[in-house]
Amino acid sequence: MPTGIVGEFLALKEETDADLLAMQCGDFYEFFGDDAEFVARELDLKVSQKSSHGSSYPMAGVPLSELTPYVKALVERGYSVAVADQYDTDDGGHAREIVRVVTPGTLLETADADAQFLAAVVRPEDGTGSGGSATDAEYGLAFADVTTGQFLVTAVPDLEAADAELYRFDPVEVLPGPNLRSDDAFLDRLRDGLDAKTTLHGAEAFAPGRARHRLREQFGAETLGSVGLDSQAGIAAAGAVLDYVAETGAGVLGSMTRLQAYRPDDHLDLDATTQRNLELTETMHGGKEGSLLSTLDHTVTSPGGRLLREWLTRPRRERAELTRRGDCVEALASEALARERVKDALDGGYDLERLASRTVGGRADATDLLSVKETLETLPAVAEAVEGSRLVDSPLADVVERPDREAARALHDELDDALAPDPPNTVKQGGMFRVGYDDELDDLIERHDAALEWLDTLAEREKRAHGLSHVSVDRNKTDGYYIQVGKSVADGVPEHYREIKTLKNSKRFVTDELEEREREVLRLEEARGDLEYELFCDLRDRVGDRAELLQDVGRTVAEVDALVSLAAHAAANDWVRPELTEPGPLEVEAGRHPVVERTTEFVPNDLRMDEERGFLIVTGPNMSGKSTYMRQAALITLLAQVGSFVPARSATVGLVDGIYTRVGALDELAQGRSTFMVEMQELSNILHSATEDSLVILDEVGRGTATYDGISIAWAATEYLHNEVRAKTLFATHYHELTALADHLPRVHNVHVAADERDGDVTFLRTVEEGPTDRSYGIHVADLAGVPEPVVSRAGDVLAKLRDEKAIEAKGGTGGAGGSNGAGGTKQAVFDLGSGGFQGAAGTDTAASADGGAVDAGNAGDTTDADADDGPAASALDPGTEAVLEELRGTNVNELSPLELMARVQEWQGELDGA
Ligand code: ADP
Ligand code: MG
Repeated sequence: MPTGIVGEFLALKEETDADLLAMQCGDFYEFFGDDAEFVARELDLKVSQKSSHGSSYPMAGVPLSELTPYVKALVERGYSVAVADQYDTDDGGHAREIVRVVTPGTLLETADADAQFLAAVVRPEDGTGSGGSATDAEYGLAFADVTTGQFLVTAVPDLEAADAELYRFDPVEVLPGPNLRSDDAFLDRLRDGLDAKTTLHGAEAFAPGRARHRLREQFGAETLGSVGLDSQAGIAAAGAVLDYVAETGAGVLGSMTRLQAYRPDDHLDLDATTQRNLELTETMHGGKEGSLLSTLDHTVTSPGGRLLREWLTRPRRERAELTRRGDCVEALASEALARERVKDALDGGYDLERLASRTVGGRADATDLLSVKETLETLPAVAEAVEGSRLVDSPLADVVERPDREAARALHDELDDALAPDPPNTVKQGGMFRVGYDDELDDLIERHDAALEWLDTLAEREKRAHGLSHVSVDRNKTDGYYIQVGKSVADGVPEHYREIKTLKNSKRFVTDELEEREREVLRLEEARGDLEYELFCDLRDRVGDRAELLQDVGRTVAEVDALVSLAAHAAANDWVRPELTEPGPLEVEAGRHPVVERTTEFVPNDLRMDEERGFLIVTGPNMSGKSTYMRQAALITLLAQVGSFVPARSATVGLVDGIYTRVGALDELAQGRSTFMVEMQELSNILHSATEDSLVILDEVGRGTATYDGISIAWAATEYLHNEVRAKTLFATHYHELTALADHLPRVHNVHVAADERDGDVTFLRTVEEGPTDRSYGIHVADLAGVPEPVVSRAGDVLAKLRDEKAIEAKGGTGGAGGSNGAGGTKQAVFDLGSGGFQGAAGTDTAASADGGAVDAGNAGDTTDADADDGPAASALDPGTEAVLEELRGTNVNELSPLELMARVQEWQGELDGA
């Protein structure tokens, strides 16, 4: 083990779990050994060698003042960096200790406007995994943004729901609880799906007792009860987050002023896949451009942008809140002039929540406090724009009334009295305060100014007193203040001048008095710097104490910004305010897709779904617009539950409790985003989670497998959703066969996207009409693609034959309208392809598989047969087993000895095992 500096470095490294350690050595922070080489590679630093007791170690360093950008760059690449500072010991030496660990979730210096969540996820002791079988199993989740002080906690019933919350918040760092650390699938999803750093924080921090204690300490004893946080797992997660923030030494606990506990059912259930499918914050290809958020985001402040993102990813269920937002948007949308005025007022503001955190963390400088002051000015300006217009009659007036405006004004005035108009961005050199702020400081400044004035005018006085030309007084680091005299006149200087330096064309002198004044200036400068620093820290603490007020003002400004953005988009794109019903139909007249309409000449479409018409099967050729039509329905519902206007001529939206989407479309499969297994897991999740009040979008589900499998699954899922779940459902399918379900299941209706076919050309009309498509377009596409004529025409024959034979027949569900819930009234329609041949078709296997093969390369043989009638099973055995049976039949027991028999039985067993 090396000793000396390198030894100290390695010993400190033992103490921390951080990936890298930066250790202060005098005026530098140094990295040693592997860390040095790694950092040098990542950040393009120079590596030198440090020799220590005969060995040599790589070393890379950055000056003290430049540590922050380097640490930030490393952390943004997903590494954690421990920072060890140097301090003086009593015996006059130096020692070092780790003062902070900077991690992706505790980085305060971020320049990114997005929220930066640190999350903890806790599974209870008896967690039974993702099956959801244990009804009371709860997962606790906590989300903290140290840069804004936001702190949210919740508990959800199962792992899928936990995933959905994680996806919504998109944390940069996750602390899995002790029971989740061995769950590889969960950890993989964190890494791949979220791109988050996973940190294993000490298990004891998750212990319920300790976590509860932490929360009480932070938020006060009553908080847990008053915010309704009663979940053990939620408490454990929240406590662990606080513990971690404290331990990493970010110093921002003070900005976490509020614990917000929420119940997942306050918000629309949007699982991770649905959030991705609907391209809420990023597209399927991963870019932000083209997402719903980037389309709608016209905010002018970064807190406004963050809030809009939060609204879109966490739509609401309660009508009251949606009505309130809708009233604001409506008022702003119809008052263009006032809206512009509000927007102008918002524009000058900075990120007040972030500034509050920096202030509490002791990292704000005078320019930051000046930004606080200027942003506090936006609130009265916004309020004035609201109150001086018709907006005053909308709930927007309440929004701007919410923060304590009196207190905000007082804080503003305090800062205004204190800070100089253009303060330096250092905190120790003076120049931060206005005259009149502090008497002692004013006195110092006056004396300082007088001393400077004496120095400034010295050259003039010396010229006059001693008749010298070419005299100047100046100052530099090595010589201090000096009188510089041109060489030509240097011989004429008075006695009391002492020469200190000769230059090419001049000489430098000092005098006793000059030295005395110099000492005074330096003394005053230092005293002024010290006093200003002290005053500044006091001021910063006082502002930090009002973090909650700053956050209130910041969130108000953010909310106004987000509302203005929604209104501006609605006004510019002809959107309407949806009528909300609860529960109720979904009726859209001339609806559009909010993103596609921006780039395409969009053909508007109607949509009607209600009690009698709860399940729409959407057919139409490839590329006709099925997926777009269904996503449009989902997005219009979602936007209505954000409080936004929607892209339509008119819309009535029945509030839903969740939106579920599944895409099995080929384009998805081709991108490797969906395997059949994933598709089925997702389908299973919908069938478990959706309720009568949900909206379900199924896009070509079942496509990832052979035709018969696919049809069977689609068929059965339709029946289940129709009869049992009763969710509003839109199902796009290329299985034309499914359209027959409308004849058998009362709430199922067919619609199709119209296409015009003439002379072998398909023109997409993009309009959605009642009824199924009149033909299957698959064969048509084969024709267009140049498949030889005999094959195309034979495919047509086969298809006709299959249809004639009524290959698929729905059973049940034909009884009276609607009443599938009545006792005994529920008849599941049965789709019987299970035995490998069509019901009613010629009884041989060959007929079915030959026909199947002609329609689709599908393989009838690997069909699942859950519902199959029990047919004769003789031929179902594999050849190996058959052979054993054959031998058994042919064995004469009386001819063989017991030993021979035993040997033979053993052989058979071996063969059967191998079969
Ligand atoms: P499908 O799911 O039927 O294969 P898509 O919904 O993927 O078809 O749509 C195919 C293309 O048609 C997309 O590029 C889309 O932008 C465009 N499109 C869909 N609906 C409309 C519409 N109503 N008006 C204009 N273009 C549309
Ligand atoms: Mg599609």
